[in-house]
Amino acid sequence: MKEDKENCIFCDIIEGRSPVSIVYEDDKIIVFPTIEPVNASHMLIVPKIHAPYLADVDEETTLHIIKIAREVSEAIRKSKYQCEGINWFLADGEAAEQEVFHFHFHVYPRFKGDGFGFKYDRSKNFIRTTRQDLDYIANEIKNLLQINSKEHFTSNTPKKL
Ligand SMILES: [Zn+2]
Repeated sequence: MKEDKENCIFCDIIEGRSPVSIVYEDDKIIVFPTIEPVNASHMLIVPKIHAPYLADVDEETTLHIIKIAREVSEAIRKSKYQCEGINWFLADGEAAEQEVFHFHFHVYPRFKGDGFGFKYDRSKNFIRTTRQDLDYIANEIKNLLQINSKEHFTSNTPKKL
């Protein structure tokens, strides 16, 4: 299967079977430039454990990836490589354009005229919604959400006046 560790190019890198140019490494993750960059200094942040999808990565590692992504973004901005903005990109699942089935998080610089980006037609690719639709969807997702915002963000919860 495509998710199997046996044919995983990132496990080959992590386990020393393929060459890699390491930017950062700790017990949980490794950061390296991709061989197919959108622009120079395009980095991948990859958990060391073979985890095909986001749901397979534990919460602590996920938070760590985000923390490191902030640091990597700052380093790219300070670098000599052209960077007017930064994209973070995560493809979770084939329909979302995931191509390597070992979870990875992209951090890459962008600049005007780099020719990259989502291509879409605003009139065709966006669904028209009503407040009723949005209320319905919000409620559906709220009921499936595994966290309680009151528990997690007590200090930031706006007080009712
Ligand atoms: Zn792997």
